[in-house]
Amino acid sequence: MSGTVYHEYRTCGDETCQCMSGGTKPGPYAYRAYRDGDTVRREYLGKAESE
Ligand SMILES: [Zn+2]
Repeated sequence: MSGTVYHEYRTCGDETCQCMSGGTKPGPYAYRAYRDGDTVRREYLGKAESE
């Protein structure tokens, strides 16, 4: 299956955490985006090595 792998920083979801208010976000995490018909789907690949 083909697709484009990309890295993304995500917020952790804790509203009291600094990453939710513009601070440093944890990551990067690797994702793969691929087309499934007319839909672009995203697959989570896990924590990226580093960037
Ligand atoms: Zn956080």
